[in-house]
Amino acid sequence: MAAADYYEILDPRFARLFNGNAQVEKLFTGCRWAEGPAWFAAGRYVVWSDIPNNRMLRYDETDGSVSVFRQPSGNSNGNTVDRQGRLVTCEHSGRRVSRTEHDGSVTTIAAKWKGKRLNSPNDVVVKSDGSIWFTDPTYGIDTDYEGDKAESEIGACYVYRVDPDSGDVEAVITDMVRPNGLAFSLDESLLYVVDTGRTHGAENPAHMRVFNVGKHGKKVSGGKVFADCTAGLFDGFRLDADGRIWTSAADGIHCYDPDGTLIGKVKVPEVTANCVFGGAKLNCLYIAGTTSLYSVRLMVNGAKTF
Ligand code: MG
Repeated sequence: MAAADYYEILDPRFARLFNGNAQVEKLFTGCRWAEGPAWFAAGRYVVWSDIPNNRMLRYDETDGSVSVFRQPSGNSNGNTVDRQGRLVTCEHSGRRVSRTEHDGSVTTIAAKWKGKRLNSPNDVVVKSDGSIWFTDPTYGIDTDYEGDKAESEIGACYVYRVDPDSGDVEAVITDMVRPNGLAFSLDESLLYVVDTGRTHGAENPAHMRVFNVGKHGKKVSGGKVFADCTAGLFDGFRLDADGRIWTSAADGIHCYDPDGTLIGKVKVPEVTANCVFGGAKLNCLYIAGTTSLYSVRLMVNGAKTF
């Protein structure tokens, strides 16, 4: 296998981001739809979701073993680790964002907006001020495959912010069709959000937008298109320490320069849903790709968000 089997250079800037000897490795297979990898630095493991199987799995980097982390999992989808090292999870059938506390108990962060149940929280990010931002499309209530089929009580798909002091849930983006993955820029002045509306109509977007985050970080403005996906749909994504965006797509992980240029790809043999930087130096990209968990060592490090 040669480097060309694993990497595709679309711009010279991508060539120095990978080592041609570093292969894409399949670490585990047997999922139905792998999603939401989160890296736990202290424990040296990755937790991720297998949504249709209603379970969360854990990959132990020290010995390569995989075990069940939680089942049932509320058909968990996106996961992240907050600044205190706690797991924050989007649950489809739980129809909530939950947090696993240090003592192991699971608490509800958000389940309703204006008295109505959320659709099925999809992906989540925690800002440095402790606010929790998440997307709420309908994928977990559209059918019984990824959750429990139900009508949307809210009747729309928004991006929400949970206030760290009051716990109030506010809708911050209301003009997307199916908001999905999201992440802040390194200085948190920008919020990138994917819209996967294409799943619900060919006329709908399959793109990533970028919003300006207000001075006090409670509201956003703007929202121009940052990138249109060139292969299937973007879903979840992460930033590296230089602000590049590494996002899931149909043919692997697409890497975007902050200027919006698609500079290269990590090729993965399955449709990917999400990724996360892990390892002691955050230079290992863990990739959730349909049935499997993959990894690849890169020449860049992930942004430190915990
Ligand atoms: Mg997603």
